[in-house]
Amino acid sequence: MTGQIRDTNGRRIDYARISVTDRCNFRCVYCMPEDGVSPLTHEDIMRYEDILFLCRALGDLGVRKIRFTGGEPLVRKGFVPFLKEFRASFPGIALSLTTNASLLRRHAYELAQTGLSGLNISLDTLDPEKFRSITRVGDISDVMDGIRAALASGIPNIKTNTVPMRGFNDADLPLILSFAWENGLLPRLIEFMPIDDDVWRRKMFVGEDEILAALSRRFGAWTQLGPDSSSAAHPQGPARYYRDAGGRTVGVIAAVSNHFCQSCNRLRVTASGQLRACLFSRREMPLLGLIRSGDYDGLGRAILEGMSAKPQRWEQERSGALQMSNIGG
Ligand code: SAM
Ligand code: SF4
Repeated sequence: MTGQIRDTNGRRIDYARISVTDRCNFRCVYCMPEDGVSPLTHEDIMRYEDILFLCRALGDLGVRKIRFTGGEPLVRKGFVPFLKEFRASFPGIALSLTTNASLLRRHAYELAQTGLSGLNISLDTLDPEKFRSITRVGDISDVMDGIRAALASGIPNIKTNTVPMRGFNDADLPLILSFAWENGLLPRLIEFMPIDDDVWRRKMFVGEDEILAALSRRFGAWTQLGPDSSSAAHPQGPARYYRDAGGRTVGVIAAVSNHFCQSCNRLRVTASGQLRACLFSRREMPLLGLIRSGDYDGLGRAILEGMSAKPQRWEQERSGALQMSNIGG
């Protein structure tokens, strides 16, 4: 199989985000309803061999970076050995991971051995009570242990992901940013996205302009970094990066107020093997049947076809009743 994934607008797609599980040990208020989501059956979830088959096809179609996400990837049994197999099978594809870090301490060293090129960690507050309240079940000390272990293990390019929510954690942003900078992490603030109608609350939404105004009041002026200034410190991707006079950098992912659709280079595959050309679109292309029947060429055609339907801008549709934990964020 050869070729390159391009959408109808000519955008080249070389980055895939794959959800390895819809399950999670947290119940973050912006991601899931309080009693969680109905779990997919084991039969409906991609097995590790399915994911490797998929990754081979993606690599042959020009994908150069794969991020594994979830749900919480580290709750899935055998995940770290799977990553080692991925690394050995696809040395030319950059590998990264998004995690809530609650189980990171015990896996950090082995993760570092897989040659991860980056790790994103959700961190919505530093306050133990608030952390419990945002995640409904989590313990911030597990996350802090995980972050320390990741740093000590030498995992490169660690970023924090924070979803600011009005009246909940918006006042905590300066503390989170300072914590990140002091520890050599790159903080990113992600606008609350209306993915799941059961959890979306418009009044809690805080947009990029308001975020930047609050940061300017606290830290002084910020200058936006140009798209040509991509580096490990301020990589390309959905975030816009800003720097203050002291050289501190913050990323803002304004998926709602200021779309990054023009430069979107990514595709997503849900835990159940549905290709999603756009996070906000309802359109999905089922890949699991083709994967399980070993139809390699058919899988390639389905990926190309599914991606050719990538919408130009997300506002054409609303995701509605979808679940971030299945899609993978
Ligand atoms: N469990 C892992 C974690 O929390 O990092 C990985 C999966 S989680 C779905 C991936 C990312 O999606 C997290 O950074 C989380 O903050 C973000 N996320 C989840 N729901 C969101 C929403 N409604 N709006 C914006 N970001 C959201
Ligand atoms: Fe779990 Fe991540 Fe969703 Fe929080 S954001 S409930 S940690 S999947």
